[in-house]
Order: sequence, then structure tokens, then C-alpha cells
Amino acid sequence: MSNILVINCGSSSIKYALILQDYDYRLYGLAENLGTPQARISGITKDKEKFVVELGLADHEQALSVAMQRISHFKFDAIGHRVVHGGTMTHARLIDDQVIEDIQNISNLAPLHNPANLIGINATMKLYPDLPQVTVFDTAFHQTMPNKAYLYALPRELHQQYGIRRYGFHGTSHAYVSERASTLAGQKNQGGWIVAHLGNGCSTCAVWNGQSLDTSMGLTPLEGVVMGTRSGDVDPSLHYFLNINLGWDLAKIDQVLNKDSGLLGLSGLSNDMRTLVEAAEHGNADAQIAIDVFVYRLAKSMAAMSCALPQLDGLIFTGGIGENSGFIREKVIWALPHFGLSLNAENNATRAQEIRIDDGTGPQIWVIPTDEEGRIANETRHIALGEAVD
Ligand code: AMP
Repeated sequence: MSNILVINCGSSSIKYALILQDYDYRLYGLAENLGTPQARISGITKDKEKFVVELGLADHEQALSVAMQRISHFKFDAIGHRVVHGGTMTHARLIDDQVIEDIQNISNLAPLHNPANLIGINATMKLYPDLPQVTVFDTAFHQTMPNKAYLYALPRELHQQYGIRRYGFHGTSHAYVSERASTLAGQKNQGGWIVAHLGNGCSTCAVWNGQSLDTSMGLTPLEGVVMGTRSGDVDPSLHYFLNINLGWDLAKIDQVLNKDSGLLGLSGLSNDMRTLVEAAEHGNADAQIAIDVFVYRLAKSMAAMSCALPQLDGLIFTGGIGENSGFIREKVIWALPHFGLSLNAENNATRAQEIRIDDGTGPQIWVIPTDEEGRIANETRHIALGEAVD
């Protein structure tokens, strides 16, 4: 086992986590607002104390240097980078010129994410030219989807010439929690599982014998269920309608569907489920309808995922909402009346821990806190250092 640094670079932010072999804690931090006067970094020190440092107008490279000073008492052996879109790449890869070119070539599929991921890769390559570095793709786990699940019903050349198809995202999380639940159930990587990853972004996934057979996100992370600020599925003619009737251009429509919709758009209040549940309890009708649409559309997507599975062994909830809200989990189970699901109310009332929450009479229901960083570290160990991963 070795120490691995995991980096998740966004357009104006960097998340890092140092996963240490000899300690049961991690050093992690978040640099935000990069390139603006509000740039700052916060995190946890080796003494488990919180720190915040203002960074002036720091860019990604400068913020990374500050972050690296914070972890400089530990040596690490390799770096794993989360990369959002890997196109048709099926596995994590050791970074070389070819990998960088491949990521650049598919940047049109994830124009907000891949260029930002490359900034992080370039910065750490400069800082640590001698360390092995690995890219772990959010899409890779879903490359086992059959063509009936990943093809859109569009003219075939759009797929063949331009790669327009469903890719799916959150793959690292779906892979981790489905493996973990199946292990806890005594059937490692066996059986049929429907996963609901419910964070600020939300997606569902059908996993059969450790492989993704379908997922709710598509060409981009906008497709599928209702999310914090993303609409999920809408009629594809909506773009045309908004343009013709409201005069909105494509950039405005894209902004509204990605940033102003979902729970935030429906409630007019917040993208945070905690705020909405509290407001609904106090009689806020808009918060209530946002919750109702979220739950109904999620249950519909989970029912649809069952079509991909030869057999249903269980459901898995993860992500901030899935891990913490027994209230939402219970509503989702009620909204799936034909699956023979039954909750153990006491277990469902717990938060943020690995726990089985069904009553044993039907398909299993698990809550599994996701660990994307741990999974990225493991894949990095395996690819960069040849270490066996259990
Ligand atoms: P994530 O993106 O996985 O960090 O999830 C973030 C989301 O989790 C937040 O926007 C909240 O809506 C949600 N969340 C966290 N804790 C709770 C909770 N106790 N109840 C409901 N939602 C929660």
C-alpha cells in the first residue's frame, strides 16, 4: 500500500485528498473562486485542525502549490486525477502525451469539465514530473452498457461520426457503492442492483454482476432525474420552443437548464434538500412540490433501471441526500409500490453510515456512503504501482 494524492479540478476550484496508508484519516482541502479576488483554500491539517487561507488572485497552479505545502510532511507515491468525460475509454490510464491528447480530443463532449481537469493535470505534471499520474474517468464504468441502452434514436451517423450517444457519469460512485453493498450482502460483485446517487447531481444506475448495464445520465450530466439545479429530462423540443417564443439563445437555455432548474427552479427557494424539507414541514407549497417531483421522477427512473436487470437483489442509496435523508428514502420506497420493498424504520432513521435498511421480506435496501476519492486512489495504485486492489 502507498500514499496517493487525489485531485479533482473544476473550472474555478480544486478538491484534493491525500489518502494515507498508515492512518485512518485523510488530509483534504478545497480551493475555490480561483482567478478571482475571493480565491481561498480551506481544509484539514495533519493535526486534524481546520485551516482557511486567502489566496488573492491565485490561479490553479498557485493554489496547488499552497495545497502541496499543507501536505508536505507526507510523501506520496502517485497522483490520481478525476476526469469527468473519458468518451469510450473503458479504464483508468497512466498519464502520457497520448492520454492528454485523447482527453483534449473529447473536450467538446464536456466543455466545462475536461479543460478544467487538464489544467489540474498540467499543474501537477509541472510540480511532480517524476511521479506516476493516472486519470480516472467518471464515464468509464458505464462503458459496459449494451448499445440498446447507450444509443439515442437519432440518425446513425451522429453516433458513428460524432460520438453522440449516452455515456453516463458518477461511474466511480456507482462502481464503489455497488461493489460495497454486494460485498456486505455476501455476494461480491454479483446480482442485480439499482443505485441512486443523490447529491447535488443525481443519477441512477443498473448494475449486474459488477457491470453497469444502464444509467440515467447521457451525453452530458443533464439527462435523467431531477437534480439540485439541473432539470434532468425535458422534452427535447423545449430548446426550440424557448428560442421561438421567448427569444432565448442557446447559451441562456443551457444556463437555465443546468443552473436555474431542478429543485431550485421548482421551489424558487433552494437547491438544498435540507432547506426544502424544512420549508415543506412549515407549509411551503413550492418546496413540497419540488420534493414530490424529485421523488416521483427518481422512482420512475429506478423502475426503468429494473428493465436492464435479469434479477433485482436490491436498491442502494448514496450521495448527500441518499446517505442522510431517511425521509426522502422512505418517500422513494412508497413511490415504488410494485417491487415488494419494505423498510426497517429504525435502520432507515440512521444517517451517513453503511447500513441495510429493509426489513428482510423483499429486495435488500442499502445505504452506502460513497467514497469516490478512495476508489480513485485504489485505481491509481493499481494502474500506477501495480498494487493489487481488493
Ligand atoms: P453531495 O453533492 O453528495 O455532497 O450532496 C449535497 C446535497 O446533499 C446537499 O445539496 C443537500 O441537499 C443534501 N443533503 C445533505 N444532508 C442532507 C440531509 N440531512 N437531508 C437532506 N438532504 C441532505
